[in-house]
Amino acid sequence: MNDKIYIIGHKTPDLDSVAAAISYADFKNNIEETDKYIPAVPGKMNKETEYALEKFKFAKPEELQSVENKNIILVDHNEFSQAAAGAQKANIIGVLDHHKVDFKYNEPILFNIKPWGATCSMIADMYFKLDLEPGKELAGLMLSAILVDTVLTKSPTCTEIDKIIIEKLADIAEIEDWEKFGLELFKVRSSVSDLSIAEIVKSDYKDFSFSAGKFGIGQVETADLAEFKVKEEELFKEIKNIKESGDYHTVILMITDIINEGSWVLAESKEPELIEKALEIKFENNKAYKKGLLSRKKQVVPKFI
Ligand code: MG
Ligand code: MG
Ligand code: MG
Repeated sequence: MNDKIYIIGHKTPDLDSVAAAISYADFKNNIEETDKYIPAVPGKMNKETEYALEKFKFAKPEELQSVENKNIILVDHNEFSQAAAGAQKANIIGVLDHHKVDFKYNEPILFNIKPWGATCSMIADMYFKLDLEPGKELAGLMLSAILVDTVLTKSPTCTEIDKIIIEKLADIAEIEDWEKFGLELFKVRSSVSDLSIAEIVKSDYKDFSFSAGKFGIGQVETADLAEFKVKEEELFKEIKNIKESGDYHTVILMITDIINEGSWVLAESKEPELIEKALEIKFENNKAYKKGLLSRKKQVVPKFI
């Protein structure tokens, strides 16, 4: 092993995981006056991530097929089921995350978890605590990630600290109306016309092992529900496919309407009643609408643990 340390987010990278890898590498390289921290991604990035990288002029991070035998810091996840291939055999240096903890390691490491709205909020806070500031472009990238993760502060995962950090980063990035800017990001995110059905379902998709069995939960957030309505039949076919080929108990797709602040829950499950009970919904043809449901992490996952 050489002394390079890769900073890497979860599989099916989202904007927060990629922006966290870039910003934490920048932060660590700066304060340690080194260049050994390298942002990386474990696979293809989604559209709003590519859009934000381009907008703020960042190169695409190195794509690692496997992290086996590499020094790594995990950002925006801590569960091996969500980590890059080879993570079980990597040398893990640290974890920086804002999700529930499901992690075990045989050595003491840096383990930094906060119940905040985004990993990028934690990194911004590290700069501010040292009286440092991320550069203008980096502030813009981090702001983008926090706005997407917190659904423009509407998600119940968004804390008062996230809101303060959003204002500070918007200031540094010279973005006057962050709400308007955030809506642009969601427009990029939800234009699904050029994506295949499989790409839509897997664009923000996570596996979980719950007591009932293996669950797959995908989420798409949109400002335009109509785009998904017409694809519903195909979406169901796809989640059924995933369920059957992957030996799942349940596969859920949340289609979140960020304008009306609620989600359509599409589910294929061995026990639909269990899902209904947990989420307090009533399925009709395997789907149900739940007002106020915005967060997979806070409002769905905990119901099945
Ligand atoms: Mg994430
Ligand atoms: Mg995140
Ligand atoms: Mg998310």
